[in-house]
Amino acid sequence: MRQAQPVLWCNPSRLATAPAQMQALGKSISQTDMLAAAARFERFAPFLARRFPELQASQGRVESGLLPADALFTALGHRPDQGRLWIKADHQLAVAGSIKARGGFHEVLEWAEQLAAQAGLLGPGTDYAMLAEAPARALFGQYQVAVGSTGNLGMSIGIMAAALGFQAVVHMSAEAKAWKKQRLRDHGVQVIEHAGDYEAAVASGRAQALANPRCHFVDDERSPSLLLGYSSAALHLRRQLEQAQIVVDAEHPLLVYLPCGVGGAPAGISFGLRQLFGDAVHCFFAEPVQSPCFLLQMMMGLDRHPSVYDFGLSNRTEADGLAVPRASRLAAELMQPLLSGVCTVTDATLFEHLVQVLDHTGLRIEPSAAAGFSGPGQLLHSAAGRDWLERHGLRPHLAQATHLVWTTGGRLLPAEEFQRFEQRGRQSLARNTPHPTLESPP
Ligand SMILES: *Cc1c(COP(=O)(O)O)cnc(C)c1O
Repeated sequence: MRQAQPVLWCNPSRLATAPAQMQALGKSISQTDMLAAAARFERFAPFLARRFPELQASQGRVESGLLPADALFTALGHRPDQGRLWIKADHQLAVAGSIKARGGFHEVLEWAEQLAAQAGLLGPGTDYAMLAEAPARALFGQYQVAVGSTGNLGMSIGIMAAALGFQAVVHMSAEAKAWKKQRLRDHGVQVIEHAGDYEAAVASGRAQALANPRCHFVDDERSPSLLLGYSSAALHLRRQLEQAQIVVDAEHPLLVYLPCGVGGAPAGISFGLRQLFGDAVHCFFAEPVQSPCFLLQMMMGLDRHPSVYDFGLSNRTEADGLAVPRASRLAAELMQPLLSGVCTVTDATLFEHLVQVLDHTGLRIEPSAAAGFSGPGQLLHSAAGRDWLERHGLRPHLAQATHLVWTTGGRLLPAEEFQRFEQRGRQSLARNTPHPTLESPP
């Protein structure tokens, strides 16, 4: 890991059974909370459909497809007797364009709901569509929502906060992409740029917000509301798996690969999946080789809070959604008994997978969203992965396994930006792939 090589780490503390009620950072997080988050999204659906034309077709539901990817599985070097590959296409999530739609929208909607209830705007059976009208907007306009972000979280919080009428402030780090800053400003969001990294942006955002009693700071490193918004994805995924007639049980394991930054998004989803599928689901996080903060946190234990910089790593990666030096302790505490493992991936591989995804599925994802595609290879072809499969008795069931890669962002990516990524991936593939005539002699 110190040498920035791709590795797979398997969690020795994983428990077969996920407790329905868990404690993390002194906060209680339960299956009931996950159901409440899903119910909140349902209550807000009429508002969302009204406020965002692109959500009219789905009647205000922000959800993504579950897509088969057999050709891609083969292209990645795996065989049909090693399982089937599916993609959970959160890179297509409407409005925010990334997985942050789940957590970010949930936290802003939860706060709006609290304020509206306190102001007496909500009664039993109130149609939340009225939260798009003047009295509610006037109320929200007295408050500020702030967040520190490398990009996508700022996008989801900023867009939703502005849509409700809040004053929205996004603190962004140096590595945040220029087009993301511009798009937020186009939505009327105030963008404050910080010279340092993601952690620095969050810290100064938090400090400024604390000084303002009418400001709600969305804290990516310790917010249960964010995490629960992510977790509700598990409930929808369960219905999608049923519809696709995908069985999940001891003989049909579900192996899920999730890109990880601070860990809130993948931890929320893993929490939900472990609640619903118990021991039959295995969740693996994927991080850039230069930013393996979650791996480091899990290896060193919860009484430490290490940074990748302390291990000679640079936290430099084109996967801006994952460029985080230190993990969320909330996510790490929650994952200690639930997570199966963490793998790391080089930027070169991210770009190659981005191209292979394009060529074999037609989907356009951002580099961060490609991280999970390393997961099946790490499990099936590395010594650590094979050993892990063996120890969990999964080898005999691989042919009936479902590999689910979570693609986490890309919808809002400008075309020129994507082309640049695609070019880098094609160059890298051309360098690494031997000429066909050399590889397969007649
Ligand atoms: C934020 C993000 C992630 C990871 O979420 P964390 O909560 O930071 O772990 C993964 N992919 C993309 C595209 C993201 O924007």
